[in-house]
Amino acid sequence: MLPVPPQAAQGERMKSDAKAATRAASGAADVLRHAERICRARGVRFTPLRRLVLMLILQQARPLKAYDLLALLQIHRPGAAPPAVYRSIAFLQRQGFIRKLHAMRAYTGCQGEHMVHEGESAVFICTRCRRTIELDQPSMADLINLQAGRLGFAMQVGTIEIHGTCMGSCAREPAGGHD
Ligand SMILES: [Zn+2]
Repeated sequence: MLPVPPQAAQGERMKSDAKAATRAASGAADVLRHAERICRARGVRFTPLRRLVLMLILQQARPLKAYDLLALLQIHRPGAAPPAVYRSIAFLQRQGFIRKLHAMRAYTGCQGEHMVHEGESAVFICTRCRRTIELDQPSMADLINLQAGRLGFAMQVGTIEIHGTCMGSCAREPAGGHD
C-alpha cells in the first residue's frame, strides 16, 4: 500500500470528522430524550444546565476536556460558573450519561444501551485522532474485577481504557505525523 501524504490523511480525517459530528448531532437528540426518561424514572432532576452540558458533550465527535466544555458552555450561557458546570458533569457521570477518560482527562457521552450500564465498561481510544469506541462487553470488565479481587486490589475507575490507533487514515499515517 502506498503511504498517504499527510495532507491527504488530514483532509480525509476532516471529512470523517464532519461526518462524525453530523452523526453525533442527530444521535444527541435521541440520547437526550433517553436521558430525560431515565432521570424521570430515577426521580432525579434533569435541569436545563445538566441537559445543555450533556448536549454539548454529545455533539462533539471527540472527548471534551472540562475547560473546552466550559468555553463552549459560556457561548450559550455567558454567566455559567465553573462550580455549577463541574457539578453538572459529576451528575451526568453518576447517572452514567457520560464517562471520564482518565488518560485524556476528557469526557465523552455514553450512547444507546451503554447509558444504562452501571458497572465497568471498556473504551478503545485512538491516540492519534482521539476518536473513541465503546465496547459493550461486560464480561471483560467482570474478568478484570475478578482478577483484581483475587489480587486483593480494589478497582476505582469505572472505565477500562485501551489505547491504540483506529484503522484507516490513522493506521496509515507515519508515526509522529500527527499529534
Ligand atoms: Zn484515529
